[in-house]
Amino acid sequence: MISLPTRSFENLPTPFYYYDEGLLRATLDALNEQVARHPNFIVHYATKANANLRILQIIKEAGLGVDCVSGGEIETALRAGFKADNIVFAGVGKSDWEIKLALESNIFCFNVESLQELEVIEQLCNEMNQQANVCLRVNPNVNAHTHKNITTGLAENKFGIPVDSVWEAIEKIQAMKHVRFIGLHFHIGSQIVNLNDFRELCTSVNSLLELLKQHNIEPEHINVGGGLGIDYDNPTSHPIPDFKAYFDMYAQHLQLNERQKVHFELGRSLVGQCGYLVSRVLYVKQGQSKRFLILDAGMNDLLRPALYHAKHQIVNLSNPSATSEVYDVVGPVCESSDVFSRDVLLPQSHRGDLMAICSAGAYGEAMASQYNCRQLPKSYLSDDFNI
Ligand SMILES: *Cc1c(COP(=O)(O)O)cnc(C)c1O
Repeated sequence: MISLPTRSFENLPTPFYYYDEGLLRATLDALNEQVARHPNFIVHYATKANANLRILQIIKEAGLGVDCVSGGEIETALRAGFKADNIVFAGVGKSDWEIKLALESNIFCFNVESLQELEVIEQLCNEMNQQANVCLRVNPNVNAHTHKNITTGLAENKFGIPVDSVWEAIEKIQAMKHVRFIGLHFHIGSQIVNLNDFRELCTSVNSLLELLKQHNIEPEHINVGGGLGIDYDNPTSHPIPDFKAYFDMYAQHLQLNERQKVHFELGRSLVGQCGYLVSRVLYVKQGQSKRFLILDAGMNDLLRPALYHAKHQIVNLSNPSATSEVYDVVGPVCESSDVFSRDVLLPQSHRGDLMAICSAGAYGEAMASQYNCRQLPKSYLSDDFNI
């Protein structure tokens, strides 16, 4: 059973995001406990999973760095109090203003995704009389066995530099005046639940490192990205991901020298389970063959089901123990894909019931839009209710 402050929700307008601060802190503690066992491991929080300022501040307090994929995220991270030299900046399409902002802010490192981007960074550095640290984002052609919209490490994906071009890119950097090559970056996808996929990444990383060694190059920083998945089916039995297994796997399989540092960019696994989208039932409608539960939250508030066919557990907070019925739980947006769950068993639900969509802390609020001229969802932390 999940326990949410339902009584405090009664008078609030819906829909809204609710974050369990206790679970977020417990997750960060569990992470830090494991990271502490590996002195060469450094974790950056992937801002795009949830850029809520209060969430960012809690993550900053836990001592993490931050991974940004846009100029806006760099600004947001700085506003939340992250230090510029803990910021890494990835993205296949960095605009000139974003690169300049990163240079002016003196971020730690650019994760560069193409040869042309390297040239642009060199040119802008030259104009600004600046230096830039660069990791090359490599596309290792590793299959992450996750939804096709969130695999990023296959040769067909737009991300990174092909393994075959890495050496050419390094030679290019060596001829540059303002750009310094400091390491390699990888990110094979998101919601990865089988550690074997990360293990396969380790194999790719090792063989690339071996190859570079033959050219007398031993990069100091190896950034393996993020992607650790969470349990959307059983959030209450697995509120905190198995960080031990995850980090131990990397420690065991990456073949590094004692100076090399491993960077991680975790997003979903840190913030996914602490967030809920709380909404009310507007209507219960009997269709010809289906019974619809129509909520006041829609795909503009939580896009994942429509975008990735993602499944989130849904609970009725008002009537948790009523006898069950089968429903299609849908939103009010004028799109047939505005469906949170099909043919799901829920306690018999009525107009006005409070419903919580679980595991919505990652890629929920961050992806919300005003489609249909709807308002952006508000958000609360448990702290707002003295919990
Ligand atoms: C999205 C992203 C991440 C985080 O992915 P999660 O699955 O949320 O851990 C890390 N690195 C990069 C480059 C990303 O684009």
